[in-house]
Amino acid sequence: MNVPIDADLAANQTVVVAVDGTSGSGKSSTCRAVADRLGLRYLDTGAQYRAITWWMLDNGVDVHDAVAVAAAALTPVLVSGTDPLDPTITIDGVDVSVEIRSDAVNGAVSPVSTVPEVRARLVDLQREIVGAGGIVVEGRDIGSVVWPEAEVKIYLTADPAARAARRALEAGGADVAATQESLLARDKIDSGRAVAPLTMADGAIHVDSTDLTLDEVVDLVVGLVMERV
Ligand code: C5P
Repeated sequence: MNVPIDADLAANQTVVVAVDGTSGSGKSSTCRAVADRLGLRYLDTGAQYRAITWWMLDNGVDVHDAVAVAAAALTPVLVSGTDPLDPTITIDGVDVSVEIRSDAVNGAVSPVSTVPEVRARLVDLQREIVGAGGIVVEGRDIGSVVWPEAEVKIYLTADPAARAARRALEAGGADVAATQESLLARDKIDSGRAVAPLTMADGAIHVDSTDLTLDEVVDLVVGLVMERV
């Protein structure tokens, strides 16, 4: 079932929708579909952390050396496209949308994301993009740190087994047990880090997507946004 929307209202919106949650809980698919349905822009902040991580690996920076990562954090030029149907990401002019999903980046992104200089740089960039409003933003710290004044805040989770099964399927039939291990390792670092840990923001609505289809989650979030604007 599609929630009917008023196209004019959607086009004029300055609303910010913040969606945080664990790895593989369905944030990207949900946010892109919600943004598309409501005529909003879309920002994947995880892709930005992944792109910086890819650049560090490609430039021989030791991703487990926080001092080296901090020293390089300001160097690359990062550009995020905000079309929900084609969310591009380039770093130093290179389109890395495929490379940022590699196992190497999966394994290195959470350590890189703990480095305060990396976070400070990306949070500045995110606030610049979100500032104009009319956007659905996904990440780990959007409702808590990047944009606490977001009109709608969602905390999206799902059981680890369901998340691993979905991610493995997306990756063309990857091993589910290994995928689950990688997701849980990232959750542990993301929830335990000192700066901007993954947490349910004040005022966020918890949505557990374990037993919901993508369409059901999208309808639910679209309904919440329409209620508030
Ligand atoms: O959302 P995605 O799984 O692509 O994010 C990859 C990683 O980027 C996360 O595991 C986390 O370490 C980091 N991240 C973050 N803060 C955000 C978005 C992502 O630390 N706002």
